[in-house]
Amino acid sequence: MSGPCRCRMVFTMEVIKISPRGYCYGVVDAINLAKVVAKDPKYPRPIYVLGMIVHNRHAVAELEEYGIVTLDGENRLELLDRIDAGTVIFTAHGVSPQVVAKAKAKGLTTVDATCPDVTRTHELVRDLASRGYQIIYVGKRGHPEPEGVIGEAPHHVHLVETLEDVERLEFDTDKLALTTQTTLSQWDTQAIIERCVERFPGIEVYNEICLATQQRQEAAATQAKEADVVLVVGDERSNNSNRLVQVVRELAGRPAYLVDSVESINPEWLRGARKVGVTSGSSTPTYITRAVIKYLEELDPEAVPS
Ligand code: SF4
Repeated sequence: MSGPCRCRMVFTMEVIKISPRGYCYGVVDAINLAKVVAKDPKYPRPIYVLGMIVHNRHAVAELEEYGIVTLDGENRLELLDRIDAGTVIFTAHGVSPQVVAKAKAKGLTTVDATCPDVTRTHELVRDLASRGYQIIYVGKRGHPEPEGVIGEAPHHVHLVETLEDVERLEFDTDKLALTTQTTLSQWDTQAIIERCVERFPGIEVYNEICLATQQRQEAAATQAKEADVVLVVGDERSNNSNRLVQVVRELAGRPAYLVDSVESINPEWLRGARKVGVTSGSSTPTYITRAVIKYLEELDPEAVPS
């Protein structure tokens, strides 16, 4: 006679893999270039990267295995004081002309891994400044990209981060333009642009948020709605990863958490969830995101604390 079945049904978490996500073309090219330099004996040793190659500690650790030393810190000019010989690689989000000049003056060999999208903003700012424009630059204070762009024309570029910053601006010219950092939230930036257009009618607007950032944000805003909770895989210093968390919370209306790796997932966040969305910033190595997805796919929701 057969008794009641004692087997326990094992449910698995449904994982919504938000796409596109993860590494962008600019980051892939920068990392590949650094590896090529490390393997080529024609580049003088030691080989340094000026700041994190991308804002992700796993990507930095991977380059260490190639013998590349990361000079960690945001002020690129000051970082150069730490070295006197060898090769220095400029990262995907660019450097100011002052940094390039100082590296050359020190006799360092330079390698430029700046993403073409960032280079375009540098060229735009140079061109506008040479034609006498004052330029509002929407960006994040302390991030290397604004530091590099502002360095192109320090007397012409005015960094704004918030709507309050816009209210403080005063100009005695009508020759005004606005441009942006590449990795901002397009929705926050739009509000700042609209206020600038209201305050300064006739301002020329050049929105430089890159395609990779826009696509990842739009995917997160729409696809995250299917999920109960979303994990954004990325480093706490990554601007675009933090913006993805913000986009999921504010536009998809779902709880979102930034995780650096499987180890940083707090099971409490998954309480009651059946569908977990996963996305990642454009500086997050693919294998880290894969590990997070695998962990979730093997997770029994019944085993999550209730
Ligand atoms: S996030 Fe955009 S600007 Fe930055 S490296 Fe990637 S493609 Fe280039």
